Amino acid sequence: MKDSFGRKIEYLRLSVTDRCNLRCRYCMPEEGVTSVGHGGILSYEEMLRIATAATALGVKKIRITGGEPLVRKGIVDFIGDLASLPSRPEIVLTTNGLLLAGLADKLKGAGLARVNVSLDTLQAERFETITRRPGLDRVLDGLRAAEEAGLTPIKVNMVPIQGVNGDEIEDFARLTFSHPWEIRFIEFMPVSGGLGYDSENRLPASDILHTLENLGELSSIERKGPAGPARLYKLAGSLGRLGIIPAVSSHFCDECNRLRLTSDGRLRPCLLSGEEIDIREALRKGASDQQLQVLLRDAAMAKPEKHRVGEDDYQKGKRGMQEIGG
Ligand code: SAM
Ligand code: SF4
Repeated sequence: MKDSFGRKIEYLRLSVTDRCNLRCRYCMPEEGVTSVGHGGILSYEEMLRIATAATALGVKKIRITGGEPLVRKGIVDFIGDLASLPSRPEIVLTTNGLLLAGLADKLKGAGLARVNVSLDTLQAERFETITRRPGLDRVLDGLRAAEEAGLTPIKVNMVPIQGVNGDEIEDFARLTFSHPWEIRFIEFMPVSGGLGYDSENRLPASDILHTLENLGELSSIERKGPAGPARLYKLAGSLGRLGIIPAVSSHFCDECNRLRLTSDGRLRPCLLSGEEIDIREALRKGASDQQLQVLLRDAAMAKPEKHRVGEDDYQKGKRGMQEIGG
């Protein structure tokens, strides 16, 4: 499946819930979200039909995200069903890690390939400030369990924010001397309003790179395999690698290979633009597999050439990151 700019769409991000057991300040309001309710959220059967149609069109990788995907009941079996689709897509998961320790073995057994764990601080008190919940130890246990279960290579996603955790970039980068992990620094994105952080809190990729360069000899790594948004580096003598995702400051849109499905059944051509295509209604009116494929193709064709963050008339969307899945 190609979009109107010739980009090959091979990657689907599937948000399985908008609920979460954390309240990260840059993602969710304190009171949580008004969950769209049981009828509004797609059932696993419905998601499986969409995923099947997507793989028939060439999608090779499916990322399970949320909200926090591990809070949804039945997630292990659902991952098992996705991994058993005839084309055997690669199934990966993004999680805050809180429930990972108890599930890592089961997830691996079900066919999950690997995990990305989001962690923004290595300091327990600060963890509670940023996420409004305690839990650093549980996330660290989750990382250990994922490693033991073989959900590797493990990627750790950190969003550095000026005046909040920007001073921990070096501590995170040093983890690559003791662990074969990919530590990825993601620029804060002004996806939705009213969260207390704004564009001026963003630590730009150039500043992140500058901080990493202070740590030792930093070489950039050529990416093998499909394109991705991270610019990759390695510190001499380390076991792992470092990634910087310049989500806002530099357009990697020309390499974009993804579509998103929100938990309430909207196809989202681009994270940073509000346009959505309702696939839930079609599903519930009895759409055939071919009709689902038409909607997926429509969503691919609706992908903009590039995002417009930073332009004068850019408007933040109504949906938060926890609804879209990051
Ligand atoms: N709950 C899971 C987790 O935290 O990994 C999955 C969903 S979360 C929305 C996916 C990713 O989006 C996380 O890595 C999180 O740090 C990132 N994220 C959320 N809001 C963001 C923002 N405003 N800017 C940049 N990244 C953000
Ligand atoms: Fe929850 Fe993930 Fe958003 Fe944090 S970033 S509030 S863990 S969905």
